[in-house]
Amino acid sequence: MSLPDYLGVRAREQDPGDALADYLKKEAAMYEQLGRSHPKLSRGRVWCIACGRSESVKAASALRSGWPRCCGATMTIDSPEERRALTGAT
Ligand SMILES: [Zn+2]
Repeated sequence: MSLPDYLGVRAREQDPGDALADYLKKEAAMYEQLGRSHPKLSRGRVWCIACGRSESVKAASALRSGWPRCCGATMTIDSPEERRALTGAT
């Protein structure tokens, strides 16, 4: 599959600037969709598993440009209560 086919644009018939604008629109829509793809992403909150700090996050832009980090590690979408339930710890 050629790159123009992959991007869903017809490069020869379309102005390159329009093709890029179309691509960027599709890319942004894809990240928006990913950000809504799971309730733990769409609620917009992450936690540090080391120090417990929590912060709000816009999932779509974080997926696109970098996930929040704290204490040297990527922050988790699982709340402390959810992590306890997942690991069976009390
Ligand atoms: Zn931390």
